[in-house]
Amino acid sequence: MRAEILAVGTEILLGNIVNTNAQYIANRLAELGIEVYHHSVVGDNPKRLKEAYDLAFKRSDLVIATGGLGPTKDDLTKEVAFEYFGKEAVLHENLLKNIEEFFKKINMPMGENNRKQALFPKDAIIMPNNNGTAPGCIIEEGNKILAVLPGPPREMKAMFEESLVPYLVKFQDSILVSKTLRIMGMGESKVAEIIDDILENSKNPTVAPYAKEGEVTLRITAKAKDEVKGNELIAPLEREIRNRLGIAVYGEDDSTLEEVLGKILVENILTIATAESCTGGLLAGSIINYPGISSVFKEGFVTYTNESKVERVNVRKETLDRFGAVSSETAAEMAEGAAKAAGADIGLSTTGIAGPGGGTEEKPVGLVYVGLYIKGEVKTKELNLIGNRQRIRNMTVMNTLDWLRRELLKNNVK
Ligand code: ATP
Repeated sequence: MRAEILAVGTEILLGNIVNTNAQYIANRLAELGIEVYHHSVVGDNPKRLKEAYDLAFKRSDLVIATGGLGPTKDDLTKEVAFEYFGKEAVLHENLLKNIEEFFKKINMPMGENNRKQALFPKDAIIMPNNNGTAPGCIIEEGNKILAVLPGPPREMKAMFEESLVPYLVKFQDSILVSKTLRIMGMGESKVAEIIDDILENSKNPTVAPYAKEGEVTLRITAKAKDEVKGNELIAPLEREIRNRLGIAVYGEDDSTLEEVLGKILVENILTIATAESCTGGLLAGSIINYPGISSVFKEGFVTYTNESKVERVNVRKETLDRFGAVSSETAAEMAEGAAKAAGADIGLSTTGIAGPGGGTEEKPVGLVYVGLYIKGEVKTKELNLIGNRQRIRNMTVMNTLDWLRRELLKNNVK
């Protein structure tokens, strides 16, 4: 079955809103094993809308239209479709009642024009809207299928999942099952080099790398009869990739670095404190993103000035005078000082030049030192980052969290 997604709305054409409906539907159809051949967008104009249906049905079997189901005159998606298929719309009393009840529930008067949202051909398959007023519908005509969904993403997604997916399941002969591996501390080209033969030769499952800010993801996708069979295809390939990439794989699917690290800290009851200069609280904020971290996160110091580094986390004045605030020596003392001041097992620190100004030849923008104190031992690491201030700060956080994760795993903390 060839599918096409047709977004209706002048707002999308003008770039006022992003066509996230198409993204959502395309993603879900791929998971359902239905191939999408085209995306199109058309404004709220009856002539061009008809042309869009014409073109879509010439090349596709299933067209999923979103938007334009509202009560106003320029909401035409349904009306033009009914005309296109030569179908007469009749008032569905039960739908009208639902719409009236919806307005009662939200305590608003129903407009007379909302009646048009209850107009559908007799043989249309109605998709109820539990989150708004406009029902959707499925029209079957020969071997062509049109599904019409509302524009607001919340309404569209619920209707898609509750009504359209159960309808589409009968057309599936296979589904796509996928798993994403998340990788930190290794660039996309290095990952590709290590698993070059896998990327090249794998047909089912396929493996696709994506580079994101600071991390690489590998999506393994299998086409199979059902989820169990799909997972069976994925497992050996996943094992091989994990073997080759080792500790660089930090998580899978929707897991985040903060979550992975947070779990390790909480499960091993390792308490932590931070002392931050260039990241100014971002590092503590990230660690605290993990719910449940309160049992181990002790204290976060934002020690931006030299005085604060001395007063709050006990950095020696001589260290600052001799090596400067942005130095491995200062990072080390910050990490140790934070851990000791907070009475924590682990101290993490950041000090660097986030820019845009303030860099020198010796210490350019992007030079960052991070420190890690664990139970009596202190280490530091130099980072050379590129990008604007925000990126340098974000990358410092990610690198620091990943460094701690790796150090803990290397020390057999699970
Ligand atoms: P309503 O019943 O609220 O009028 P509708 O089905 O007529 O809904 P539209 O009027 O086309 O839908 O769009 C309503 C809102 O839904 C838009 O202002 C926009 O915020 C969102 N929306 C519409 N289409 C899309 C899309 N393709 N992607 C993301 N958001 C969309």
